[in-house]
Amino acid sequence: MKIFNCRLAIVVSIFNLQLLPSPLHPVGISISSGESGTISPKFRISNFEFRGTMNSRKIREEFLQYFKDHGHEIVKSASLVPQDDPTLLFINAGMAPFKNLFLGIEKRAYTRATSSQKCVRAGGKHNDLNEVGYTNRHHTFFEMLGNFSFGDYFKEGAIDMAWELLTVGYGIPEEKLWVSIYTDDDEAYKIWNETIGVPHEKILRFGDEDNFWSMGDTGPCGPCSEIYIDQGAEVGCGKLTCKPGCDCERYLEIWNLVFTQYNREPNDELTPLPKPNIDTGMGLERLAAVLQGVYSNYDSDLFVDIVKLTEELAGLRYGKDTKSDISFKVIADHSRAAAFLIADGIMPSNDGRGYVLRRIIRRAIRYGQVLGLKGPFLHRLTDKVVDLMNPDYPELGQSKRFIDEVMINEEQRFADTLFHGLSLLKEEMDQLRSKEQHIIPGSLVFRLYDTFGFPPDLVEDIARDDDFSIDIEGFDRSMAEQRATSQRSWKGSGQEVIPEVYRMLDSRGLDCRFLGYETLRAEGKVLSILKDGDLVDSGCEGERAEIILDQSPFYSESGGQAGDTGWMRNDTLSITIVDTIKYPTNLIVHKGEVVEGVVSVGDTVEAVVDEKRRKSIAKNHTATHLLQAALRETLGEHVKQAGSHVGPERMRFDFTHFAQIPPERLKEIETLVNLSIQENLPVTTAIMPRDEAFKQQAIALFEERYDDDVRVITIGDGLSRELCGGTHVTATGDIGVFFLVSEGAVASGVRRIEAFTGQGAIREIQKKMSHLNTISGLLKTTHDDLVTKVEHFIGDQKEKDREIELLTSKLLQKQSEDLIDTAKVLNGITVISQEVATTNPKDLRECGDHLKDKLKSGIIVLGAKGNGKVFLLCRITPDLTDRFNAGEIIKDLSVFVGGKGGGRKDMAEGGGTKVSELKNALLKAFDMVSEHSAR
Ligand code: ATP
Ligand code: MG
Repeated sequence: MKIFNCRLAIVVSIFNLQLLPSPLHPVGISISSGESGTISPKFRISNFEFRGTMNSRKIREEFLQYFKDHGHEIVKSASLVPQDDPTLLFINAGMAPFKNLFLGIEKRAYTRATSSQKCVRAGGKHNDLNEVGYTNRHHTFFEMLGNFSFGDYFKEGAIDMAWELLTVGYGIPEEKLWVSIYTDDDEAYKIWNETIGVPHEKILRFGDEDNFWSMGDTGPCGPCSEIYIDQGAEVGCGKLTCKPGCDCERYLEIWNLVFTQYNREPNDELTPLPKPNIDTGMGLERLAAVLQGVYSNYDSDLFVDIVKLTEELAGLRYGKDTKSDISFKVIADHSRAAAFLIADGIMPSNDGRGYVLRRIIRRAIRYGQVLGLKGPFLHRLTDKVVDLMNPDYPELGQSKRFIDEVMINEEQRFADTLFHGLSLLKEEMDQLRSKEQHIIPGSLVFRLYDTFGFPPDLVEDIARDDDFSIDIEGFDRSMAEQRATSQRSWKGSGQEVIPEVYRMLDSRGLDCRFLGYETLRAEGKVLSILKDGDLVDSGCEGERAEIILDQSPFYSESGGQAGDTGWMRNDTLSITIVDTIKYPTNLIVHKGEVVEGVVSVGDTVEAVVDEKRRKSIAKNHTATHLLQAALRETLGEHVKQAGSHVGPERMRFDFTHFAQIPPERLKEIETLVNLSIQENLPVTTAIMPRDEAFKQQAIALFEERYDDDVRVITIGDGLSRELCGGTHVTATGDIGVFFLVSEGAVASGVRRIEAFTGQGAIREIQKKMSHLNTISGLLKTTHDDLVTKVEHFIGDQKEKDREIELLTSKLLQKQSEDLIDTAKVLNGITVISQEVATTNPKDLRECGDHLKDKLKSGIIVLGAKGNGKVFLLCRITPDLTDRFNAGEIIKDLSVFVGGKGGGRKDMAEGGGTKVSELKNALLKAFDMVSEHSAR
């Protein structure tokens, strides 16, 4: 095992001898390569002999330990899903989980912290997705090593520690390092130049774009300073202007130190913060590459095993061809991102975070195709990532099987469409090329997106490889058009297309106020009446009508909850309402039948909701929320509602999950829901801004868009918190009882649970009990002994079946022996044509076999009847098949009995429905043989 070379060993030991009490100097740092550290460097940078020794785990550990020794609290990486920041798609920097500390909203016991934070930069403000594969240093998922000061040390401390750790701790030669500062940050300049000793020419000044950091439009912000490592001219672009900040790989930015010293006021003015903060970030993957003596992150120990497995799967070598290397890098990077995102509870979907994940997976699959990888392969790599990273991120191991299933499912889903989409794209690109055009039209990008599930950036990748670009504005236009069209044909209940007449009423501004959260009975004025889809002035007794009021307590079917039923009445009329549906905006349509009098536009009626039914629906609806909470608790956070139906009788809940739920788990889930019911927890409703709801971690429906203000239903202290427009019970005890009756698959990755509550549950339990009682009575046993008894019965039955089979076979053998005696010889040919006493074709076949064995030469025609059908069979011994054809004989005879048949020369079957003709058919067989043989 190679440890550090002498030079570093000396530096470290001198360093340890010079322990100073100042927090700016490390206490007891000792860096060694640790147990593994046997990376063989691909490239060695001159004067960098010490490299190639430290594995990434050790690098991470030493970083955290160094800052711990300097009074920092080691803080575990937060989830990739921001917990209290609805504005952020993913955690994209080490500071993100500390945002509230920087803003002064939150206080903690420490003022210094250090972490190795999981980050994803694949969407939102930071998006490096398109860089991945094309550079050696950009990832969608990476770990950011960071140290933070919340009003504690500032610029000098941050710079001093960063420099010391890099040069002394990790042993990077000072002469390889460059730094950049913000244009007018003379304070930083002074520290770098005078205190640290970085020469003037190696300190570059950059403007707002590169070196000024802001959290948002207002709030804490400040200049930053970046540290670069010169990897040598051999990897640079060679331009004279090449220096840190150049796009090429020579000057690698490894660490960014942010000095949060201002507060940006709403008027854009910068006021100094009383206690400035420090936030730094260094990519572990970049540092690992540097310390392991390789130019590319993909050659570091964090990636080599993933790349190696890809090489095995593809049968190709990495590092041999620039084009395929892009694929290797994309696959390695994206498999890490996918595994970590799924482990943090994100599922591929068509919106938000889930869509970013889907794009990442699909991009990797597409690049896999370039390497010739067919069929699901990516899950093998995510599995590898799980094994490699699990020691440091146990959440991966905990979700190992789940990650695998999600990946396989997503890969299978995309496989077919990828193939067809790529062929279409190739064809279109060939055509464009022949016309010397190199822009893929937006409409095509949209078609690929809409029909084949190609994210536009995937099309862009393909285009880029062939020197094409894509018309993204055109794509956006097509997308907007489709949205408008689908909105126009959007349906209130989510089921049907809106009839023209409702669209027209809606555009006239017809509106109906919903009062049903507060009351079940209210007066309303009849605004419109529809009969068979036409607007009418009135509806008479016995007629069906759809009625729109200016206000109504009727809940219209939406969010899976069934519409209300009830009555509309006044002194002269009575209408029964059988359903309520919702069309655009607030058009509540009551479907009913006039049972008395005449209803006319302008009438005032009292609208009364069927209270008992509404209450039953509420029980089922609140139960779906409890069920969702129980499912998430038992199966995991990946469970998300995928649909539901809540009626008065029963509820149905669809959710994302990949495997069948075992019966004991279902029992656990049912028990959890019932426990929550027994606790009689309060169910409260609150209207709040959408962002606030997300902050409180309210669950929103999959891929649903919500208004700025949302309605949040909370059960207990937050046992369940969901965005929901439905009607609920006021306390869980009202539900009474929850009875789960079935679980099954609806679509791939979507399961369905059906259950009953309240009286419905009791009725269902009673029904099931009564079945049990009947069965127990029939079997003359108690409920407790029922299973044993049934098992006995099944055993007995099987035994009897075997006996019956044996006896039947014996009988058939006997019958066939008797049949031999009925044989006739016609023109020298032995013919048997007889009815067999059986009712099924299988026995007929067996009988035919016996006869054929007995009869050395001859023609056998057998018939049987049962259940209004005739079965026919013909067998001919091999010596006669050149003269007779069983298929032909059966064909003719079947027609005779009113059916069809046919088969081979030696064996054929058929039949029909004319049972009375069986006898004649069998006689006809003799005629056919004698006629044919006489020829
Ligand atoms: P670059 O200019 O190289 O894209 P950046 O300026 O966007 O980097 P910062 O936001 O300053 O990076 O992040 C701090 C550090 O995190 C960087 O110095 C780098 O080491 C690392 N880093 C940033 N983005 C990535 C990425 N996409 N993949 C890997 N490491 C990254
Ligand atoms: Mg930067």
